[in-house]
This record gives sequence, C-alpha cells and structure tokens, in this order.
Amino acid sequence: MILKKGRIIVLDTTALVMGYNPLSVDKDHFTVPDIMKELVPETLTWSRFNTALETGKIQLKTPTAKFLKIIDDCSNVTGDSTVLSNVDKQILALALELKTQGTSPLIVSDDYAVQNTADQLDLEYTSLSTFGISYRFKWILYCPACFRRYRLKLAGEKCRVCGTPLKRRVLKKISISKKRFKSFVV
Ligand SMILES: [Zn+2]
Repeated sequence: MILKKGRIIVLDTTALVMGYNPLSVDKDHFTVPDIMKELVPETLTWSRFNTALETGKIQLKTPTAKFLKIIDDCSNVTGDSTVLSNVDKQILALALELKTQGTSPLIVSDDYAVQNTADQLDLEYTSLSTFGISYRFKWILYCPACFRRYRLKLAGEKCRVCGTPLKRRVLKKISISKKRFKSFVV
C-alpha cells in the first residue's frame, strides 16, 4: 500500500451501505453525525458502523456553517443541489474543512452528485470499486413529506401533491461481486 501523507478517508452513506468496512482499512475515517439518520438500525451496515465508532476507526465531526455555505453555493451552480441530501452536503463540507486543516481527505462515494461536486471543489474522491466492491444501485425518487414515489426523470422537481422538493434514495443494492479488500493506493 502506498501511503499518502496526511491521508484520511471521508465516508458517505453509499460507501457504508454498499459494504465499505472501516475496520479493514488502516486509515483514519471521518463522517458526520447525521449519517446515522440514513442507516437502517439492526443491519450489518449499522453494527459495522457502531463497531467502527466504538473502536475509534471512525470519528464523527460536524462541519462548520462556513463550509456548508461553500457546498451550497457550489452545488447550486452545478445543479447538484436538488439531488444531494443534507447529509451528502455535510460530508462534502467536512472533507473541504479537513483539507483546509492540512490533511488529504479522500471521499469514498458512489453517488454521482457527491463525486461531481467534489470534482468542482478539487476534492479527491474514489468509488467503491477501488476497494473491490461492485454492485448496481436501484434508486428511487420520493417526496420526503408525503412519501409519494416518482419516476427518476423527475429529479429536481417538486412533489405534485404537496410541493416539497423530491429526494433520491438508494432503495437496495444488487451485489455483482464482492472480493476481499486488496492492497490499494490511497
Ligand atoms: Zn409530497
């Protein structure tokens, strides 16, 4: 494994849900406290996350308002703002904040909007395939207020019933292959 100086790993929801195990990677991991709202209790992902927390392999940090504002402004320009969840935005803000503190954060995410926004901000990111995890997403689009479902092509629009901006969510993963973690360059 080639070590990059100051390398830390920032995880988003897709990384954890798709099977990234922080205990298997010899790096410090960071994420935001609100990620717990996006994990389903009593699942493998949930217990893995809690073990990583208890053993200090993941640290929780809330980004400051200054960096959240930068993410908001940037994602408004790129058009990703409507598809990024609040947690996604916090994770991007956290990575940016940690970078300004002299570390080299690597965001692990398979969310296209997260990757796109990271790219705009010159933040490094990588997908789960780097870690030998492959799968296909099944995304749904839904109204977070009245829970009606919509076709994906309506992303960015509002609920026709109650007017709330629609959100995306990974419904489930369809695993293609899952190899053991190999040595990798981060
Ligand atoms: Zn609605």
